[in-house]
Amino acid sequence: MATPEIKHDLYIQFGNEYGPEEEQAVIDVLRKNAPTSGAACVQFEKEFAAYCGTTYARCVSNGTAALFLSMVGIGIQPGDRVITTPMTWIATAAAAATLGAEIDFVDVDPETFNLDPARIEEKITPKTKAIIPVHLYGQCCDMDAILDIAGRHGIAVVEDACHTVGGAYKGRKAGSFGVTGCFSFHEQKNMATLGEGGMITTSNPDVFERIALYRSHCTRVYGTSTKYCSLDETRFPKGKRFWWQDFDDTGYNFRMTDIQAAVGSIQLRKLDDFNQRRIRNAARITEGLRDVPGLQLPVVRPECLHVFHLYPVVLDPEKFGVNKEDFIYRMLHERGVKVGAHYIPLHWTTAFRKRGYGPGQFPVADQAGERLVTLPINPRMTDEAIDYLIESVRAMQG
Ligand SMILES: *Cc1c(COP(=O)(O)O)cnc(C)c1O
Repeated sequence: MATPEIKHDLYIQFGNEYGPEEEQAVIDVLRKNAPTSGAACVQFEKEFAAYCGTTYARCVSNGTAALFLSMVGIGIQPGDRVITTPMTWIATAAAAATLGAEIDFVDVDPETFNLDPARIEEKITPKTKAIIPVHLYGQCCDMDAILDIAGRHGIAVVEDACHTVGGAYKGRKAGSFGVTGCFSFHEQKNMATLGEGGMITTSNPDVFERIALYRSHCTRVYGTSTKYCSLDETRFPKGKRFWWQDFDDTGYNFRMTDIQAAVGSIQLRKLDDFNQRRIRNAARITEGLRDVPGLQLPVVRPECLHVFHLYPVVLDPEKFGVNKEDFIYRMLHERGVKVGAHYIPLHWTTAFRKRGYGPGQFPVADQAGERLVTLPINPRMTDEAIDYLIESVRAMQG
C-alpha cells in the first residue's frame, strides 16, 4: 500500500518551534566566535534555576548527561541499587547502570503510567541509594508520597523531568523536588536547544559542586571563577611564577555551547506559551475522542499541571476493534499520521533481559507495552490538523 500524501504536519509527532529571535541569537553568538560555557550559558542557567525555583542549574550536553552526572553527584557506586520505572526512555536507567548500579524496576500506576508509590517500599534494600521518578508524558509523579518514602529511608530522589519542563505538582515546578532535576532539550522535547541539550537543577550546594566539577574534567574553570594549582615554590622560585590548571579528579566533558544556551534562553521565555498550546491541543483531542469505545485517554490529576509532552492512548483491542501494531501501521499508511509507542517497557529489552528481567514481571507496564500508543502532539498543530487526527483515529475502529 502506498503511503498517502502527508497531511497537516502529522508525520512529525512532537517538538516545538523556533522563530526569528532564535535565528538572531545564533548569529549574535556566532559573531562572538561561538564559545562554550561562556556568558550565554551562565545567563541561561540563572534564568532556568529561577524558573524552576531552585538555587542552582547547570547546563549540560543532553538529558542523559544530566542523569549520569546526577548519579555521580549523589555518589552512586558499583553495587548500589537504584529504583525506577520500566515505562521510560532507556537513558533513565542507563545512567545508574553504566556506573555499575543495579536497577530495581517498580510497576506503574494504570492511569498515569507514573511510578506507583505503593510498590516502592517493597523494593528498598540497605543498598538502595536513589529513586528516579520519571514525570512521564508531561505529568508529575505523586511527589508527596515518593519524597515521604525516600525521606524515611534516607534515599536520594533524582527527578527525570525530561518530559515535563514547565510542568508542576501542587504549584511547584518539576525539577524542584528531588536532590536534582534532569531536563533534556533534545529536538523532540517541549523546548529545544538546536537538536541536543540538557540541564540539571538542584538546591544542594555539595551536590552542585560535584556535578559542576565532573561535568568538565573536574577543573574549576567556569564563568569567572578560576582555581589553579598553587605555586610550587621548590620547583619555581619566587619571581618566576608558573601556574597550571589543576584537576580534582578525572571527570567528563558534558558541556553545552553558548549558541545552544542563547537559544535556550529564548525558548525558556516561550515555554509557558508552548505548553499552553499543548494543553489546549490535548483538550481538543480528548474532546474529539471521548466517546470512542475501547480508548483510555490521558488522565490529568488535579494537583498537576500536565504539559502534554506526549498524548498517550491505551487501545483495548476487543472494544476498539484494532490492536496496537495494526493501529500504528494503518494510521501511517492509510492516513499519513505517525503514531508512536512510548515506551517499550525496559524489562522487555535485551539490555535488561541480560540483567535478569523479562516480559510479564510488571503487569501494568506489560499491558501498556502491549496496548499504549502516543498520538502526535505539539504546539504547532492547527485545529484542522487536530480534527484530521481525531477523524483518523475514529476511522480505525473495527
Ligand atoms: C529524552 C529523555 C531522556 C534523555 O535525554 P537526551 O537529551 O535525549 O539524552 C531521558 N529520560 C527521558 C524520560 C527522556 O524522554
